[in-house]
Amino acid sequence: MTEIVYLNGELIPLEKARISVRDYGFLYGYGLFETVRAYNGHPFRLDEHLERLAGGAKKLGINVNIAELKEAVAATIKANDLRDARIRLAVSLGEGGMTPDPTTSQKPTVLVLANEYQPYPDMVYQRGFRAIISTSRICRQSPLSGLKTANYLANLLARQEAKAVGADEAILLNDIGLVAEASISNIFLVRGGTLFTPGEDSGILPGITRRTVLELADGLGIKAEEKDITLGELLAADEAWLTGSLIEVMPLTELAGKPIGVGQPGMVTRKLMAAYRQLIWQVTPSE
Ligand code: PMP
Repeated sequence: MTEIVYLNGELIPLEKARISVRDYGFLYGYGLFETVRAYNGHPFRLDEHLERLAGGAKKLGINVNIAELKEAVAATIKANDLRDARIRLAVSLGEGGMTPDPTTSQKPTVLVLANEYQPYPDMVYQRGFRAIISTSRICRQSPLSGLKTANYLANLLARQEAKAVGADEAILLNDIGLVAEASISNIFLVRGGTLFTPGEDSGILPGITRRTVLELADGLGIKAEEKDITLGELLAADEAWLTGSLIEVMPLTELAGKPIGVGQPGMVTRKLMAAYRQLIWQVTPSE
């Protein structure tokens, strides 16, 4: 079946989708994106993803219509007859003039891609991810800090650093050496039964899954704190995990070649993995 994409108001076959060579998203990374997971054909936490996108768009002066995007997501899922899917929403400033000048753009480019998604096998969740510490740092003062922009190169390079040594993820410290997040996920640790995660002021992308996990922890009566986390604290954690819309709650069992805790998914990790799955099951029922 031909993949159908949504581009600037139209549902069209992937091969027919074209974007201007003067699109500022392509030329300057002047854009934003969101990756959303759908279960049973229902996008999970779509409103939260759209809210984050709207916040970024406001900051960058990209004029997006959130209601249109919401409809576009549903239409793209339907057009491709998807159930378990990964949805990519991308917006850019659109076509602009030759001299870099954002005011030359008349209308944004809006793209929705949706494909079937194959989650990681259970075996990976049982073993957990292995991570390295990236040589790259997150700059809290960057104007892009906290936004999910099309400037994803630093994240991809950090990910490459991990892949090059056979690791699954790369942990990034920020400009003052505190733990921030991973290349495409947020990080949590457990110490003495309390859960800790770096605060939004650490330069992280405020993950939707991160927020969901904090809510679930609250509901389960697990003490949780957003605070500054040093690398030493992370290395000495009893448990740790990563969160992201696609990986959900993924145990982190090895960091920089050393086991975290006993090197296996811990009890709090497993509780939250189960609670997250349960939530998905509740809010995205199969018809
Ligand atoms: N941090 C970064 C840098 C990311 O790219 C992602 C993936 N979007 C996340 C965290 C996790 O965010 P979410 O839970 O919203 O998918």
